[in-house]
Amino acid sequence: MQTAYPMKEYDAVVVGGGFAGLIAAVKLARANRKVILLERSNQLGGRGMTHEKNGALFNLGAHALYRDGEANAMLRELGVSIEGSVPPTNGYGIWQGRLAPLPVTPWLLLRSRLLSGSGKLELGRFMGRLHRYDPAAIPKMSLREWAEREIRDPMVRHFFYALSRTGTYNKEVSRQLAGPALLQVQRSMKGSVLYVHGGWQRLVDQLHELAVRAGATVRTGAAIANIIREDGRVSGVRLHDGETLSARTVISTLSPAGTHRLVQDAELPSLERWKNEARPIMAAGLDLALKRLPIPDRHFAIGLDQPVYFSHHTSVARLSDEGHRVVHLLKYNGAGESDPRADERLLEETMTLIHPGWRNEVVARLYLPNIAVSHDYMHLDRTGPLPGPRVPELPGFYVAGDWTTHGEMLVDAAAASADRAARQVLEDLRPHTRAAATETA
Ligand SMILES: Cc1cc2nc3c(=O)[nH]c(=O)nc-3n(C[C@H](O)[C@H](O)[C@H](O)COP(=O)(O)OP(=O)(O)OC[C@H]3O[C@@H](n4cnc5c(N)ncnc54)[C@H](O)[C@@H]3O)c2cc1C
Repeated sequence: MQTAYPMKEYDAVVVGGGFAGLIAAVKLARANRKVILLERSNQLGGRGMTHEKNGALFNLGAHALYRDGEANAMLRELGVSIEGSVPPTNGYGIWQGRLAPLPVTPWLLLRSRLLSGSGKLELGRFMGRLHRYDPAAIPKMSLREWAEREIRDPMVRHFFYALSRTGTYNKEVSRQLAGPALLQVQRSMKGSVLYVHGGWQRLVDQLHELAVRAGATVRTGAAIANIIREDGRVSGVRLHDGETLSARTVISTLSPAGTHRLVQDAELPSLERWKNEARPIMAAGLDLALKRLPIPDRHFAIGLDQPVYFSHHTSVARLSDEGHRVVHLLKYNGAGESDPRADERLLEETMTLIHPGWRNEVVARLYLPNIAVSHDYMHLDRTGPLPGPRVPELPGFYVAGDWTTHGEMLVDAAAASADRAARQVLEDLRPHTRAAATETA
């Protein structure tokens, strides 16, 4: 049915208002392109949004910004002010249902009950040479294969896998490519991470403001139903309410499946392959705000024999005006491996192990039973070229978002891919100035 709305002409429509979409919109608008960003939800930020509950600010699960990552560099370059602090690295390992200090200093390593004498020596040496590995030089192999080649002691390997899970959120060590995972571990050891004051929404809101100031139109509550094609190329988008917008290019930052749905009736083998080969990184998250921490100096713990994580984010970040303590617990899940009730129980038991009596202190709670931390990652099952920025079979159609990684991870992949997509759009639009595009409308 033909819409009653007038057709509007844009150089670019950006679908999705998470980090990838917002960064792409800022870049395109700053290049003087007529751009509109459409976000389905009423709040911008996607998986990077922050919720306020009883005076506490919850990111959607534990969120840490890698100081050496692409997102941190790009946000700063765009003019986003990032205020936050580096959390302490000491904490506990969980092994056979008990807590033991992580051997993060020579003294703690020497005293560790987790490792044998030879294990201590091997861990010390391994950590000493960790920063010297060149991730780009590692051939295509799984992280498990690499670790089994480099590390002999099984307990040292457990320790390394736990470090890698914390950095990548991924427990699929047999599928994950070694190089990108190792780079992430190096980044977490070397540059460390920031817990952002006010939550990631502070970054999202600044990106929004920068996009609007540069001339972009940003609409929330606007869900795209499909992409309109004409003469074998993109000509616009149709919203769920029937409105249509005319555009020369469209960047989708939706998941591979969500992007595929936008062009369901088209034969796009690349997109089909990206969708079918995607292996999302999934997790269950328990976010808590507490009146006080039962054991005040317990800030961080990671499972060594089970894929769980605990971190006290208000140890360094300002996330509550009331003085509440915000903590995040996470259980890493493989794709298709989720049991929300069992996962919640495990997270609660983990909390009890670290902070007995925590239930009496709860002021706010958010449980995320099964959320995609990343829609895909660098794994062994991918065939053909890496996704994006162009969808080769449909001129004018581009993809960005964390799953369109070319080696980066998580929000760094979202940022880097948004940059790739925006550059490609600008290059492909080059002969058509904004004036020319408007004249032909
Ligand atoms: C529990 C958890 C912990 C994490 N921790 C970290 C961390 O510590 N460090 C890190 O770097 N990263 C972390 N991440 C990952 C990071 O949050 C994501 O990689 C990043 O936010 C993804 O941004 P994006 O723009 O690619 O996708 P999204 O944020 O998913 O954005 C896509 C947007 O598209 C919108 N949309 C969907 N359908 C439509 C439609 N039809 N029309 C219009 N809009 C639509 C969605 O509402 C959404 O806002 C974490 C993620 C989770 C879930």
